[in-house]
Amino acid sequence: MFLPDFDYYAPDSLAETCEALDRFGSKAKVLAGGTDMIAKMKGGLVAPEILISLKKLVDLQKIEYVAGKGVVIGARATHNDLVNSPILNDKYLSISEAAHHMASNQIRNIGTVGGNLCNAVPSADLPPILIALGATIKLVGTKGERTMLLEDLFTGPMKTVIAHNEILTEIVIPDQASTGSSYIKFGLRRSGALAVVGIAVAVTVNGDTLTEVKITIGAAAPTPMRAREAEDFLRGKVISDELIAEAGVIAAKESKPISDIRGSAEYRRDLVRVFTKRALNKAIKEGHV
Ligand SMILES: Cc1cc2nc3c(=O)[nH]c(=O)nc-3n(C[C@H](O)[C@H](O)[C@H](O)COP(=O)(O)OP(=O)(O)OC[C@H]3O[C@@H](n4cnc5c(N)ncnc54)[C@H](O)[C@@H]3O)c2cc1C
Repeated sequence: MFLPDFDYYAPDSLAETCEALDRFGSKAKVLAGGTDMIAKMKGGLVAPEILISLKKLVDLQKIEYVAGKGVVIGARATHNDLVNSPILNDKYLSISEAAHHMASNQIRNIGTVGGNLCNAVPSADLPPILIALGATIKLVGTKGERTMLLEDLFTGPMKTVIAHNEILTEIVIPDQASTGSSYIKFGLRRSGALAVVGIAVAVTVNGDTLTEVKITIGAAAPTPMRAREAEDFLRGKVISDELIAEAGVIAAKESKPISDIRGSAEYRRDLVRVFTKRALNKAIKEGHV
């Protein structure tokens, strides 16, 4: 459980950070808040020779609304930045709530959004709600930048499409027609627990009809996954208790849970059913978008 030796470098600019990643190649890893990275190093899962810190890239900590683009969240924004952001509290309370229910206050003060996405554990709390809201991400490297849907980032547990010399710089929540969104997680303790299952939903309600819906399942598949069959079933239908209950059943069927120390696959599947129903009802009735 001792930290192996490593060198530490905190570049002053994004360009220098990308150049350093290029120069040091696979010997180097990015360090944001370190809440995952340091634990992985102590556990012997990774042993970078050099950690390249994003600490001085203060521009990457901003959360701002850009007209015509949407809400831009810098990758270095901490979980407590999300909790306390007036913009998110006003436009997407579901994101602030998801961050509020993560970890402890100490971890929320240093853990970052970018780290939560790039670490790519299936139980991470932020990917489901950001995916449900249609978030895009920007990856920057020495050869340029690329933008993609957040849902295309993940390729497996702790695996993403990010190249070793690329940095996630920002997450954008596009302006949208959604009328409500929600994220509900089930953990084994009331607070500070990792998700056994987490369900995020964004809905557009017109009168009594669900005209658009996105459902993302967390912790019940190798990556966060859209419950597309449940979405297709709901789209364009008149809202009723029976409809929402059936959507839960469909989402549970399409989830791909595993059994582990926090719950069996069967248990997780039933949690998907129950929490999809609850998240849909919350987004429909209490949406803040
Ligand atoms: C006690 C405890 C409780 C926790 N509880 C929860 C919880 O309830 N819910 C939850 O979702 N998570 C939880 N976590 C996990 C963790 O806090 C989060 O995943 C956190 O957001 C990681 O961010 P970080 O800034 O600390 O990342 P780091 O540890 O610095 O980095 C994580 C990984 O992402 C890479 N990385 C970081 N930023 C970037 C970037 N901008 N571009 C490219 N690569 C990057 C790093 O190289 C590393 O591989 C918990 C952790 C602890 C220790």
